Amino acid sequence: MIDTKAIEEHIRGILEALGEDPQRPGLVDTPRRVAAMYSEVFEGINYTNHEIAQMFDKTFDDDIDTSKEKIVVVKDIEFFSYCEHHMALMYDMKASVAYVPNGKVIGLSKIARVCDMAAKRLQLQERIGSDIADIISEITGSEDVAVTIEGCHSCVSARGIKKENARTFSAEIRGKFRTDPALQIYLK
Ligand SMILES: [Zn+2]
Repeated sequence: MIDTKAIEEHIRGILEALGEDPQRPGLVDTPRRVAAMYSEVFEGINYTNHEIAQMFDKTFDDDIDTSKEKIVVVKDIEFFSYCEHHMALMYDMKASVAYVPNGKVIGLSKIARVCDMAAKRLQLQERIGSDIADIISEITGSEDVAVTIEGCHSCVSARGIKKENARTFSAEIRGKFRTDPALQIYLK
């Protein structure tokens, strides 16, 4: 579990290292606020992908005719994350999650909750996609999963090369989505 007391102490140390006075009125509660924020935005660090799958494992038996291929796509799921290289915010992020049901269908709101939880870690954009795909695959029992993500990284837009409008696209493509052109139209 996240040690908020230790985070408070270390944030106080960072403020001192920056040459700030952690006792001045504007900063005196900052370590506590940062610790509270970290326990919220990094909640996903407390759980493995398998545990997240169990948490949101509310599926419905899909008794519709399985001889016809069906697909479920949830587009433009918004979320935030933090990059593991700079602990910097990744913002304006959107995921599209697609899968071919294999007898089990997951509630649509649960797909959004899975994205949120996978993102609430120190992450790489590509790994958010593979984490979401692992979890959706475990819940639905389907190997045919595709996750595309786009977003902005503040470590790129607000520092260093300062490419303010640069967006990063990434895709985790598995199973039939790799080979079936009819499914690939959903990845756009
Ligand atoms: Zn970064």
